[in-house]
Amino acid sequence: MEDLSKLFGRNVFNESRMKERLPKETYLALQKTIKDGKHLDINIANIVASAMKDWAIENGATHFTHWFQPMTGITAEKHDSFISPIDNGNIIMDFSGKELVKGESDASSFPSGGLRATFEARGYTAWDPTSYAFIKNNVLCIPTAFCSYGGEALDKKTPLLRSMEAINRQAMRVIKLFGNEDVTSVKTTVGAEQEYFLVDRDMYDRRPDLLFTGRTLYGAMSPKGQELDDHYYGTIKSKVKSFMDELNVELWKLGVFAKTEHNEVAPAQHELAPVFTTTNIAADHNQLTMELMQRIAKKHGMVCLLHEKPFECVNGSGKHNNWSISTNTGKNLLDPGETPYENAQFLLFLCSVIKAVDDYQDMLRVSVTSPGNDHRLGANEAPPAILSIFLGEEITEVLEAIEKDEDYDSKEKAIMRVGVHVLPKFPKDTTDRNRTSPFAFTGNKFEFRALGSSASISGPNVVLNTTVAESLKQFADELEGAEDFDEALNKLIRRTIKKHKRIIFGGNGYDGDWVNEAERRGLLNLRTTPECLPCYIAEKNIKLFTEHKVFNEAEMRARYEIHLDNYSKTINIEALTMIDMAQKDILPAASSFIKYLSDTIISKKSAAADLDCGYELETVKELTHLENKMFADVNELKDILKKIKASTDTAQKIAEDYKDLVIPKMNEIRNSADKMELLTDRDYWPYPSYADLLFGVR
Ligand code: ADP
Ligand code: MG
Repeated sequence: MEDLSKLFGRNVFNESRMKERLPKETYLALQKTIKDGKHLDINIANIVASAMKDWAIENGATHFTHWFQPMTGITAEKHDSFISPIDNGNIIMDFSGKELVKGESDASSFPSGGLRATFEARGYTAWDPTSYAFIKNNVLCIPTAFCSYGGEALDKKTPLLRSMEAINRQAMRVIKLFGNEDVTSVKTTVGAEQEYFLVDRDMYDRRPDLLFTGRTLYGAMSPKGQELDDHYYGTIKSKVKSFMDELNVELWKLGVFAKTEHNEVAPAQHELAPVFTTTNIAADHNQLTMELMQRIAKKHGMVCLLHEKPFECVNGSGKHNNWSISTNTGKNLLDPGETPYENAQFLLFLCSVIKAVDDYQDMLRVSVTSPGNDHRLGANEAPPAILSIFLGEEITEVLEAIEKDEDYDSKEKAIMRVGVHVLPKFPKDTTDRNRTSPFAFTGNKFEFRALGSSASISGPNVVLNTTVAESLKQFADELEGAEDFDEALNKLIRRTIKKHKRIIFGGNGYDGDWVNEAERRGLLNLRTTPECLPCYIAEKNIKLFTEHKVFNEAEMRARYEIHLDNYSKTINIEALTMIDMAQKDILPAASSFIKYLSDTIISKKSAAADLDCGYELETVKELTHLENKMFADVNELKDILKKIKASTDTAQKIAEDYKDLVIPKMNEIRNSADKMELLTDRDYWPYPSYADLLFGVR
């Protein structure tokens, strides 16, 4: 293979390319704009655009696009060619600074939650210069934020950038209290580990449920599942290996630091982990990763499933959001450090996260909710729907000692005084033992493990950044006015631990007892999307986000509406797909097989009246029973859907009806169908089975 160092970032207009191709003054001016987050002067933009265009054309690009992340959760692009007509029917290749910096887009077909009045369909895209432009499929892609005419965020990126500013503002106040004169900014970093399934493309094409909903709505479990754990870290099949090889190369070209890849617990399931980077870039990169996974899988005769729960009774797919905060001088603020001073600062930042997770459990929970993720959270394969923090034994003991003003190490009998004593060394690898925690401290970062596999990571990071910013704000307010800083710090940390320790839990999160224990502790247990979504419009949350200028109230209400609407639509499509499959494929298949068995009985009886027809008779009876039950349930489901459609209830009530009326009915239908599948001749069953799907890629 080609030299990797040359390959990496080849399709990206990154810093070294800017340095190479821009006049020095332009390069410096652009760097300054990026650092200060100011508007780009149009003269500079013109020079940058022209250099970017030349580079893009040299590398095969013919079009450009403002690449953005609307509320659909995936990315959007509308291609414009560089071609501009000039006199005599000739053309030139043109790309202006204006086109680079700002785009106008028809926003009317993207979800806006009522923010965009229909008479004002325009939306604007604005370049996020902190994320590099790149070439994908011969198109120069410019990462942008997407806003309405009135400036309200219509996308996932705008609030993410605002939340990074919010945490920067508050963390800098705290940083200054500890000296740190050299630090000028703070940013959060993320590494998003991505799980996914690969299935054979021909089999996928024969399953309407996978095609329309991304998950199997029917399917009896195959005789073998994941119970032997023989897939986890197992040898990677050659077809999958060539997919991964191509994926890596394409990601590297785009400057995505794809690092590890392995087989996951479930058969056909895999994972990709990148090296962490600045949060907004990590969000862009994760979107690109998901997009490339799907495209490259197709080239290799497979389909990449990013749904949270493609198969019942088999582990679903999630995403682990590794999150930390670091300074522009390269110091990770969640790294315990070596000196009493570093330790004290670390403990304060640690406490800011503990407080944030406890105070805003509801917002963190709602940030990972989706109809797909409802199948995973709390289903003994993923963290429960209850938020809690795992800190590891050592840190938990340190915090207990600080809270009680007691000896930490019984051998040394040293009293742990924040800012005075050095923390004991924490062996990093012992902090990662608990895989059942939704939010685990892993040595120098937190791992938020409740994200669904298909989700954009922006939402959860908006919440993490903003809620921690709020903790830091309260800490700074208190400490800035303190007469004796060390004393005030000690008190603050002790008080924070005491107040928020209920959120710390080191036990088994999959254990049923935890649900009761969490309830005793007063922790929230929001099981489903309709239960979570009202958090968006809870007064305390609106206050939080508006105060930190991350969302205004209208934007939060819009997001509430968008998510409700998405939930109801998703379940509606699933229900309709289910009905369609039942009526056109499954019930007719069962009938045909019943006919075949009945004909066999007649043939047998005419051959010899006393021939035993036990198998045929019993199966006909059982199948007929299931078929009729399923038919009745399908009709009931149709009625329920009709009623919901005609209803004039609120969007909240409608979403709840989907959850309480539609989903249980769908489960009943599936239950009958899966039993029928087990009784029906393979040749009669209309769809590839779970065995085919899970073990079909060779
Ligand atoms: P493993 O889980 O295999 O032991 P790590 O814990 O080192 O590996 O990393 C898991 C993920 O966490 C990777 O994506 C990695 O880049 C990311 N990560 C490591 N350090 C940080 C950090 N400071 N901020 C954000 N993510 C990080
Ligand atoms: Mg990990």
